[in-house]
Amino acid sequence: MKKWEENVRRVVPYTPGEQPDFADMIKLNTNENPYPPAPGVERAMRAMQSEPLRLYPAPGADSLVEGLANYYNLKKDQVFVGVGSDDVLAMAFLTFFNSDRPILFPDITYSFYDVWADLFRIPYECQPLNERFEITKEDYFKENGGIVFPNPNAPTGEELSLSAVEEIIAHNQDVVVIVDEAYVDFGAQTAVGLIEKYDNLLVVQTFSKSRSLAGLRIGYAFGSSRLIKYLNDAKYSFNSYTMNRPSLSMGAAALEDEAYFRETVDKIVATRERTKKELAQMGFLFGDSKANFLFATHPDYPAKKLFEALREKHIFVRYFAKPRIDNYLRITIGTDAQMDALIEFLKEYTGK
Ligand SMILES: *Cc1c(COP(=O)(O)O)cnc(C)c1O
Repeated sequence: MKKWEENVRRVVPYTPGEQPDFADMIKLNTNENPYPPAPGVERAMRAMQSEPLRLYPAPGADSLVEGLANYYNLKKDQVFVGVGSDDVLAMAFLTFFNSDRPILFPDITYSFYDVWADLFRIPYECQPLNERFEITKEDYFKENGGIVFPNPNAPTGEELSLSAVEEIIAHNQDVVVIVDEAYVDFGAQTAVGLIEKYDNLLVVQTFSKSRSLAGLRIGYAFGSSRLIKYLNDAKYSFNSYTMNRPSLSMGAAALEDEAYFRETVDKIVATRERTKKELAQMGFLFGDSKANFLFATHPDYPAKKLFEALREKHIFVRYFAKPRIDNYLRITIGTDAQMDALIEFLKEYTGK
């Protein structure tokens, strides 16, 4: 090791799901939406001109913040936006998790949390999910430096009831509680209604999944104006212009078409419920996912083998070589035709 390397902030980075590029592939590995963004997004993109790009964007991302505030019936100072919810969450970790006490999150959860904690030198303690992969709320009723969990959880898809979420917040009013609602639009209950009651609650959502805009990178958070001000102070100390002009106009357009949003989300939910029935018939086991993916295991067929066999056919799902979940596959819900291809393959593989 070179002398200068002693001073390097070394981290083990998060590993995103692969982005393979085959014309015939069925991509069910990174929870993207199989349907295109709302038609208004395309119109906004075509209407865009390059001339305004010489100017910096609005540092407060006002048009998008205002659109979100109107959509969710909040005040503008209760809304924060960032470059995907990963950016929002990283900023929130940096801003709110500054205690010597450990922050708490589930042992099986979004695998970016421990990466940010390590990056920012935040102590953490994982709370084990129960054998049905559910969060035990009482695990979070102890002293800590902050709490973060996704709801529905990833990669399990399990929803924690809104009353249990509130109990966790109520027991933790001396720290910041972050609820990561990346998948909430697919049938779970949002905690956004609790931000008026608890000024230490931050609810984080994204356009990446339910609004088909993973490629645009827009995430946002709701909280008390006090909480949002602290987030903005950290943001302006880091990078004033996180949201670029194209993202701002296309993002605002995505919020305008409620009918399209409902229609595509409903389609994905219907396909998810149908896929559950098909997989159950083949003997797969899984929880009652409220997200746009299923987390499934089969008593007779090792997940890793299945993952590899699917991959050969250019059907990509996600496999995690991690304790407790290394016999599971996380399968994103695609179109009906994509799920039919997956089901057909699995029927042949399992002989069912
Ligand atoms: C996908 C995901 C995110 C991040 O999504 P962005 O594309 O950065 O908005 C955050 N949390 C969870 C649990 C996710 O699955």
